[in-house]
Amino acid sequence: MNFYVMTLFPEMIENGMHTSITGRAIAKGLLSLETVNIRAYSETGNGRIDDYPYGGGAGMVMQAEPVCRAYEGLVEKIGSRPRLVYLTPQGRVFDQRMAEELAQEENLIFLCGHYEGIDERVLEEIATDFVSIGDYVLTGGELPAMVMMDSISRMVPGVLSNQESGQFESFQGNLLEYPQYSRPAVWRGKEVPPVLLSGHHGNVDRWRRDQSILRTLKSRPELLLEVAFDKKDRKFLRALLADEGDERLTEEQKSFLTKLLAF
Ligand code: SAM
Repeated sequence: MNFYVMTLFPEMIENGMHTSITGRAIAKGLLSLETVNIRAYSETGNGRIDDYPYGGGAGMVMQAEPVCRAYEGLVEKIGSRPRLVYLTPQGRVFDQRMAEELAQEENLIFLCGHYEGIDERVLEEIATDFVSIGDYVLTGGELPAMVMMDSISRMVPGVLSNQESGQFESFQGNLLEYPQYSRPAVWRGKEVPPVLLSGHHGNVDRWRRDQSILRTLKSRPELLLEVAFDKKDRKFLRALLADEGDERLTEEQKSFLTKLLAF
């Protein structure tokens, strides 16, 4: 997987990506990273790449020409026109499925905006995907680009060690991950759930699955609408609804669960 990032702050991307797991993967040649400083394509030659917005209003806009020239230089070097993701709060919201889909690409270009954004005309010419990392506004596209690259990298074979990649993760099968515990077995008087110390793999798996369902119900119930529940899951859900265990659900959660079980 080759990542190319068009940015005004290459050092931010380089520093972030050359750290931890992505840094290790770059060093091993499993990922490559190339940053392009859009400022180097300034038309005025003094590094300026922004100007006032037509129609007035606050802030500055990144001009079309430096962005386009930076892009043309890059595609010439790559020898093809890969998908280009423009990071924008107005885009489709990034999720695990999009990460999986983008991980199939060999080359990906990320375009990071700043100020009020980028002249629309160049985006119409070069951007293939408009992606947001959430409903809030950041100062620039660098952190969103790094969020996307980090998540996509995890799906590139070899980036995670065997131990890391074999784990269940949140969003697999549309469920959030179960709670995790490590040593000591009793910490400040709080005990690890006894089933995890039992050594009974079947019971541990069942407990984890139940906890995943419960967590998802409490934090992100809408995800459950697409979960394929088996008989044992349904038994757990019915027990929850009947207040048979230690867990007590709110009336809202019970009403959601009732509708869910009716399907
Ligand atoms: N004026 C723009 C708007 O209201 O849509 C926001 C511009 S923002 C201050 C500057 C840059 O940060 C954007 O061009 C984009 O690249 C990036 N950015 C900000 N928030 C983002 C988000 N939630 N997801 C992805 N990129 C974001």
